[in-house]
Amino acid sequence: KFGIETTTVDATDNAAWEAAIRPNTKVFFFETPANPTMDVADMAAICVIAKAHGITSVIDNAFATPALQRPMEFGADVVAYSATKMMDGQGRVLAGAICGTREWITNTLLPFHRNTGPTLSAFNAWVVLKGLETLDLRIRRQSENALKVAKFLESRVAKVLYPGLESHPQHALAMRQMEMAGPIFSLYVGGGRAEAHGLLNGLQLVDISNNIGDSRSLMTHPASTTHFGMAEAARLEVGITEDMLRLNVGLEDADDVIADLDQALRTIGR
Ligand SMILES: *Cc1c(COP(=O)(O)O)cnc(C)c1O
Repeated sequence: KFGIETTTVDATDNAAWEAAIRPNTKVFFFETPANPTMDVADMAAICVIAKAHGITSVIDNAFATPALQRPMEFGADVVAYSATKMMDGQGRVLAGAICGTREWITNTLLPFHRNTGPTLSAFNAWVVLKGLETLDLRIRRQSENALKVAKFLESRVAKVLYPGLESHPQHALAMRQMEMAGPIFSLYVGGGRAEAHGLLNGLQLVDISNNIGDSRSLMTHPASTTHFGMAEAARLEVGITEDMLRLNVGLEDADDVIADLDQALRTIGR
C-alpha cells in the first residue's frame, strides 16, 4: 500500500547486508536480539555499511531496552521500542516509542504520525513513565534470573538460545553490545509440538502468555501463537520449529522458576 519493497537478509551475516543493497534501498531494519530466534546482529558493522550507502538504519531495541543497549552509540539513526514490553513491565498497556534526531522526527516521522494517528493515550503514557522509573532495576534482576534459568535448562532440553550463555554463537558480540543479556530467551525442548505444549501445560508458576518484559515469568509457543501467521516453510527457515518455546524470566525467585520448569519437564519425561 505504501509502495515499500523489502529484501530479507540473515541479520547475522554482515556481508549479506551489503550484497542485498539495491539502487532503491532506503532503510536497513533489524532487531537485536531478534524475537524469538535470539540472533544477535553486529550493530556497528551494519550501520557502517548503511552510512556508506546513504541508508537509514532503524533498530528495534525492544528486547534489550536502553537500560542494557544503546544502538545510537553503535551508529543507528533511528531506534524503535515496544513500550508494551519491558518499559511498562507489568502487561498493562500497549505503547511504543521511536527515537531519532530532532530533524528526522520533525521532517520524516511527524508528517506520517500526524496524518495516521498512532497517538498514545495520556493514561498509557503515564503508566509507561511510571514503569521507566524502575526499568533499570527490573531488567538487571530479570537478566540475572534469566541467566540462572538458562543455565539450568541447558542440561535438560535439546538447546537453549540465550546470548548470555557461552554456548550462544554470538555470545562475545552480544556482550560487547549489551550490558547484560536481558530477560528473554528461547529453547528447543526436543521432539515436536506435543513436547512443547506438554511442558507448557505442566507449568504451575510460569504463566502461558505471549507477552514479554513482564515482571512475571511467561512462556509461549511461537509456532502456534506469535509466529502462527508466517508460512511454515518461512518459520522453519529461521528456526521457529514446533519444539521451540520462548521464555520471559520475571522477578520471582529464580529457584522457584527453576523448580517449576523442573517439575513441568518431568511431566514430559525429561
Ligand atoms: C512486541 C514486539 C513488537 C510489537 O510491539 P507492540 O507493542 O506489541 O505493538 C515489536 N518488536 C519486538 C521486538 C517486539 O517484541
